[in-house]
Amino acid sequence: MSNEAETPSNFIYNMILEDVERGENDGRVHTRFPPEPNGYLHIGHAKAALLNYNLALAFDGKFNLRFDDTNPVAEEEEFVDSIIADLSWLGVDWEDRLFFSSDSFDTKYEFARRLIEAGRAYVCDLGPEEIREYRGTLTEPGRESPYRDRSVEENLDLFERMREGEFPDGARVLRARIDMASGNLNMRDPVLYRILHATHHRTGDAWCIYPMYDFDHPFTDALEGITHSLCSIEYSDHRPLYDWIVDNAVELMPDATRCRSRQTEFARLNMTHMVLSKRKLRRLVTDGHVEGWDDPRMPTISGMRRRGITPEAIADFQERVGVARSDSLVDLTMFKFCIRNDLEDKAERRMVVLDPLKVSITNWPEDREERVTLENIPRDESAGTRQVPFGGEIFIEREDFMEDPPKKFHRLSPGEEIRLKGAYAIKCEEVIKDAEGSVVELRCTYDPATQSGNDTSGRKIRGVAHWVSARHAVAIDVRLYDTLFLEESPEDEGDGDFTASINPDSLELLSGVPAEPAIADTGAGDRLQFMRKGYFYLDPEDAPGNRLTFNRIVPLKDTWAKIKKKGK
Ligand code: ATP
Ligand code: MG
Repeated sequence: MSNEAETPSNFIYNMILEDVERGENDGRVHTRFPPEPNGYLHIGHAKAALLNYNLALAFDGKFNLRFDDTNPVAEEEEFVDSIIADLSWLGVDWEDRLFFSSDSFDTKYEFARRLIEAGRAYVCDLGPEEIREYRGTLTEPGRESPYRDRSVEENLDLFERMREGEFPDGARVLRARIDMASGNLNMRDPVLYRILHATHHRTGDAWCIYPMYDFDHPFTDALEGITHSLCSIEYSDHRPLYDWIVDNAVELMPDATRCRSRQTEFARLNMTHMVLSKRKLRRLVTDGHVEGWDDPRMPTISGMRRRGITPEAIADFQERVGVARSDSLVDLTMFKFCIRNDLEDKAERRMVVLDPLKVSITNWPEDREERVTLENIPRDESAGTRQVPFGGEIFIEREDFMEDPPKKFHRLSPGEEIRLKGAYAIKCEEVIKDAEGSVVELRCTYDPATQSGNDTSGRKIRGVAHWVSARHAVAIDVRLYDTLFLEESPEDEGDGDFTASINPDSLELLSGVPAEPAIADTGAGDRLQFMRKGYFYLDPEDAPGNRLTFNRIVPLKDTWAKIKKKGK
């Protein structure tokens, strides 16, 4: 894996380094990734997971995977399984520390009781609407709930009866007793527990009250001994509450808690032409805009895996993006660059003609067949070579010919020459059209003096085309992908309806495309470069099929992009 090598250098790394040097938590570093199992992970989650994991590695610390499964209504086992599979594939290793928030519901219940006993929590009978109303606004202080001064005994009794299932959903909540006049809305007696008569994917019907994220998350961090709790920027305003919970946990539950966890926020990853929110991704799935969470067009980890993107490319991308304090929008081009950079020396070359135009070589002796030798990976001799059959009838890419070309079109046009990769130069002598006037065939001649590697013609032939011998061609299917969204920031489009910007042409299927014979040996999971056309992947889910079907991972070029290569 490439994500272990370099020392991450970012403000969080530096902060942790200072903590370690000061001997905080005895120099121990322990991080976690806390996904909620209510959807599939996306590339933003990959960022959070890799950041936490790599920091633990860098400090010889520990990393936990913890499912934040406190909302039984939205959560499912399918998502737990997919998250585990996706993180393993990314190379994230939690060893034996796979936890669920629900594992410690008992301890959390006990902590809540102790908060009540300490006069720091109370059962409130206001409904959700009223609680909102009483909370006040950014400019106005809130009002205290009429239930705020219940006795400890009454609170303990009511809380227990909440747990026993005596009250319907929403009838009562447990709230922290902090400060209704606080400038921070999160500190105005936040809800800690709610009643929810729902079956939980792990605890079944054992509970009908469930802790809220703001209560559960800091407390679980303290239980697990998480020293540095990293989360995205939207939690900044929750930090005072995080500290309030942790301080109380350490004071009231000294035996159960293992450290005074601290929260630090980092920028969310946002990318152009994508939406990165589980809610929106779910909508794409349920509304049928894609075939599933793992559709190769999705920014989910499973979608990227099926597309053919490697974990190394994802890790490299995260490193280049870095860790910032404020949110930014990363250009998709940068990600594509990392994908190509990763595959350039890994993927063997093959010749495939995506949009075939037939070429007859009129002076080629009938039935003669030659084999040309091509290298599999240009910069890697150890990848060897292969023999590609050449004959008198071939396919070239339609775009490599123009009847009436502009200047500097170094490809084929009437009376001009082009080199066929590894073989000979051909000259276009005649253009055959159908009744509608479209070009259906080119009649060309070849010059034996232009044989590749042994060219005695003395002519400078600029253009080089890939080709496939018609007689030897193997037909394959190809899926070409474009971005799911046309706009750079789909979230800003369509009066808030991001689906307004959906690209109707995000998937194009090419059927029966001619490929050189070696394509038949492609194994499930192999990645290839189709010369001049991009990197392609044979998704194991598509193999074996009647016909090989390849996903294009990424085309070879973004014409408008120039990014400097790292270390090259
Ligand atoms: P979403 O907004 O996609 O629904 P979420 O925050 O609700 O994501 P969680 O399962 O709670 O999803 O996220 C787990 C962790 O991943 C959190 O710590 C969260 O901060 C982090 N995370 C989620 N999205 C991003 C992102 N785009 N960039 C970086 N980190 C992210
Ligand atoms: Mg969340």
